[in-house]
Amino acid sequence: MEMTRVFSGIQPTGHLTLGNYLGAMRRWAEVDQHRADSLFCVVDLHALTVDHDPARVRRLSRQTATLLLAAGLDPEVCTVFLQSHVDEHTRLSYLLECVATDGEMRRMIQYKEKAAKERERGGSVRLSLLTYPVLMAADILAYGTDEVPVGEDQAQHVELTRDLAVRFNQRYGHTFTVPRTTLPPVAARVMNLQDPTRKMGKSDDSGAGVVYLLDEPDVVRKKVLRAVTDSGREVVYDRAERPGLANLLDILAACTGGNPESLADVYDSYGSLKKDTAEAVVEVLRPLQARHRELCADPSYVEGVLRDGAEKARALARPTVDTAYRAIGL
Ligand code: ADP
Repeated sequence: MEMTRVFSGIQPTGHLTLGNYLGAMRRWAEVDQHRADSLFCVVDLHALTVDHDPARVRRLSRQTATLLLAAGLDPEVCTVFLQSHVDEHTRLSYLLECVATDGEMRRMIQYKEKAAKERERGGSVRLSLLTYPVLMAADILAYGTDEVPVGEDQAQHVELTRDLAVRFNQRYGHTFTVPRTTLPPVAARVMNLQDPTRKMGKSDDSGAGVVYLLDEPDVVRKKVLRAVTDSGREVVYDRAERPGLANLLDILAACTGGNPESLADVYDSYGSLKKDTAEAVVEVLRPLQARHRELCADPSYVEGVLRDGAEKARALARPTVDTAYRAIGL
């Protein structure tokens, strides 16, 4: 039997957060790379869909790749690469634009949110922001992907990818594997510590309430201890009514391998819950930060990994994309 193919990506749009780690990267490193034939991509083309500084995107692309390796991705068992190094993504994206509709694109929640933010700033919305989910679909479909391990915020885009794959296959003959989303059991959506109604995002402008993977232990402690909760006293797990508290329980559960509901029974004060959560996060980040320091001392190693990764990825994507070109009439 062929091995399951896993693909997932991460944008170099800011410093990586605890949300990226608990929602996605940790599973890639601990589970996916060992049980599947997997590819992990720094999706640098996606970083151009909003206002960006070229030098910063280049720097963040390397930094993101370095952090993926620091988190435990092993280039001996999985493929780590930059999206822009493999032309097949954009080649396929155009074909998928010819099966996607503009209505479908405008319904995407992330598009609506990011477009509104751009307009609020008085900026204009790039066409690539609208077509972003199509490029993401191409990222996934080019590799015959079976599973896409992502956080909850990306589930809608994977649904769209499935729709496009099915539609293409129906119109032009079987070409693409139809992928499915896999979500983490806990912490599929880590919320901002200062505003637990919003997700913890790396492209957050102020950085308030966001724990970054490279934050020093004391900075992590301060941020977690200052997390916004509510005026209640009893520790209960209720995502709708007590989002701040639920977020802390989710983070603690994800870091310690526990269950948020049972953890709620263990604590009788918000203070002790925050303290333990802060320490659990510090412990989860410690080995990652140590490995990151080692990798930073050897940037040519990371460059080599990305070069080899792109070569492997290209060889996998090309036959599928060539088949799609033939199928659609080119
Ligand atoms: P961001 O939204 O931080 O820019 P990306 O879009 O690059 O992140 O997503 C990289 C991965 O991290 C995706 O699988 C996404 O679902 C996951 N992710 C991002 N933020 C969170 C969060 N707050 N909680 C859980 N998973 C998240």
